Amino acid sequence: MQFQPRNITLDKGKGLLEIVWSDGLVSRYPLGHLREACPCVECRGGHARMGPEHAPDDLLALIPSRSHAITDLSPVGNYALQPSWDDGHGAGIYTWEYLRLLSPQQPPD
Ligand SMILES: [Zn+2]
Repeated sequence: MQFQPRNITLDKGKGLLEIVWSDGLVSRYPLGHLREACPCVECRGGHARMGPEHAPDDLLALIPSRSHAITDLSPVGNYALQPSWDDGHGAGIYTWEYLRLLSPQQPPD
């Protein structure tokens, strides 16, 4: 396990998920973009396109078009987060590795 979060904060008001990693990096994910990057088979369009190697190059370049509110955020073991979105979708399991890959280059203001 390469990267571990030290602290995870869901700011529903700002629509941001913030992760402070064990190495000190702070990642801020706009929820709408995070929703677009949902790694589940349904959102990826097939098993062949799943996995960290298919992570979007630039999370902030994705265009949020679906739900962007999280109703519930559940840990999956000690390796991932599984958000439930307010449109009822909740199949995506975001591993630490995937979230780290998605970390935006520049934090949104
Ligand atoms: Zn999905």
